[in-house]
Order: sequence, then structure tokens, then C-alpha cells
Amino acid sequence: MENVIIIGTGCAGWTSAIYTARANLNPLVLAGEQPGGQLTTTTEVENFPGFPEGVIGPDLMMRMQQQAEKFGTRVEYDMVTSVEKTEDGNFTLKTAGGNDYQTKTVIIATGASPRHLGLSNEKELIGRGLTSCATCDGAFYPDVPVVVIGGGDSACEEADFLTRFASKVYLVHRRDELRASKIMADRVLANEKIEPVWNSQVTEYLTDSEGHMCAVTLNNTVTGESSELNVKCVFVAIGHDPNTGFLKGSGVDVDENGYILQSSHSTSSNIEGIFSAGDVADHVYRQAITAAGNGCQAALDAERYVAAKEA
Ligand code: NAP
Repeated sequence: MENVIIIGTGCAGWTSAIYTARANLNPLVLAGEQPGGQLTTTTEVENFPGFPEGVIGPDLMMRMQQQAEKFGTRVEYDMVTSVEKTEDGNFTLKTAGGNDYQTKTVIIATGASPRHLGLSNEKELIGRGLTSCATCDGAFYPDVPVVVIGGGDSACEEADFLTRFASKVYLVHRRDELRASKIMADRVLANEKIEPVWNSQVTEYLTDSEGHMCAVTLNNTVTGESSELNVKCVFVAIGHDPNTGFLKGSGVDVDENGYILQSSHSTSSNIEGIFSAGDVADHVYRQAITAAGNGCQAALDAERYVAAKEA
């Protein structure tokens, strides 16, 4: 019987592991399909406190893992497929590898995955002019034109933020009306550096001789016409999907978009003993540092839960 199983190895998962390991809970981390989480798909991280020269995303995650392992965290690479509360108040986790794990408490830190368009070369372009995070990567594209894809609050927020760096921001939206809240939409439409490109879908990412983004092909959804736009970076902001599919049938409450609902004063879910941390429960902040902070909170909550259970 484990004290705590942490599902996920992004900033939230590793921080939970560091804290529960230092609390002598001997945590087990189950790593999923993308070990290291979203930061492994970024290059330089300039806004994580403590790294004035910046830090490479995958390096930061490796250091967090080393720190967690230094205090006794164990890691296994096995996808969790279900979480079930047992009659004795503990939990059984089943995995794709055919294993069953018993644990007193669970911290879910499986993150959220940014949606992409599904174009053929997008995997190679991530970090080479294709990204989903303006806060992370906007500063790398000063004085050049960039594209933001989407028409929601995220797209508007990204476009607005990018005007600090880019020479021009094209906001490419598949309809002729933004979905974003009125205040965000008004702000974006009033910004002279942002040019909306209505009724348009990006159908191709074009690259230069070094494999970096240099242009996109657009298809007009009304006229069917095709055109090209020269840009150095594309920010995709068409939504995120929280990685909570495996919780189907677990009884854990999620909101209408699939994000885990935390209680108003802790990281507890509606099921006692199941906690969550990071982007899997946060569609607002979505930063490495907020995920890490939430991971610390979940660890402290889990530690208190285990202590109370054993008292
Ligand atoms: P969203 O509201 O779901 O908007 C996604 C946008 O992407 C929509 O405009 C949608 O177009 C477009 N889109 C979806 N799939 C597409 C595709 N395959 N090709 C092209 N375009 C596509 O997502 P979000 O902007 O990430 O926001 C998610 C939630 O977080 C919302 O509730 C939002 O209000 C909230 N949020 C709030 C803030 C804030 O308050 N500061 C900031 C960010 C997000 P259509 O409009 O045609 O469907």
C-alpha cells in the first residue's frame, strides 16, 4: 500500500513529489505519455523565478525530477487508465501496463494539452516558430510579424500580449466574430498593432531552409480562396484539453470543459483522498510557477490527509 501516488510529471507533479518525499511519505510517481509535461515542448523559460539567465524547459524538468528523486521519490513509466475508491477508503489505480496500485491518497497532476490544428509538420515546428504560449515564447520574436490562431479569450489575450514584442500581430479566426468576452474583444479590435484576418483557416505551415516557420497558407472559409502570410511565429490558441479522460467513472467532479474542480479552500476534489494540482485543474493561469505552487499545496493537503487517517 502506497501513501501517495502522484500521476503526472510536469511542474505540479514534481513539486508534489519533492514535498511529499521530504515529508517521508515515500511517494510513487506514475509518468504518462509526455514525461516532463508541457515545459518539455518549450525552449527557454525566462519567467521561472531563480533563473535570471533563463533555463531550458526540459532541463528545468530534469532538475525537478532529480530533486524529487534525491529525497526518495520513485518513478514508474505507466499510464494510469482508472482510479477507483475501494471499500476501505483507499484507492486502486489500474494502468495500461496491466498493473494495479493500492494507495491511501492520489495527487492528479496530469496537466492539459494545448490543441493543435493537426497539420502534418507541426510536431517538428514546435519550438521552431510554432507554440501555444505567448507568455513563454513571445519575447523571442521581437520586431517581426506573428500570427495568433483562434477567436476566444486565450487568443485575444495572447494577441494583446504579443504586441509588446512583434511588429504586427495577425489574429486569424475561422469566423467573422470573436468568441472572446466583450472587454477582451474590444481591446484587441482597438489595438492598431493587431490585424484581424476573418473567415480564415491556416491550412499549411511553411518553413525556411533551416526548418523554421516563415509563412502560413490561409484558406478563406467563405470564398474558398487561398493566400499566404509571411510570419516568423504562429501562436495556436484554440483551447486546451485537460488530461482527465482516465477519470471517467471515478466519481471525480470536473467542470463542463473537463477540468477537475478543487474545493474552495484546498486542492481536494469532491472525493476525499483525491487531490489535484496544476493545469489539470486550472484553465486561468497555466504557468509553470503556478502549477509548481499548486503542486506544493496538494502535497501539504495529502500529507495532512494521510496523518489524519493514521491518527
Ligand atoms: P475557447 O473559448 O474554446 O476558444 C477557442 C477558439 O479557438 C474559438 O474562437 C474557436 O473558434 C477556435 N477554434 C477551435 N478549434 C479550432 C480549429 N480547429 N481551427 C481554428 N479555430 C479553432 O478557448 P480559450 O480561448 O482557450 O478559452 C477557454 C476558457 O478559458 C474560456 O471559458 C475562456 O473564457 C477562459 N479564459 C479566460 C481568460 C480570462 O478571463 N482572462 C483568458 C483565457 C481563457 P469558434 O469561435 O469558431 O468556435
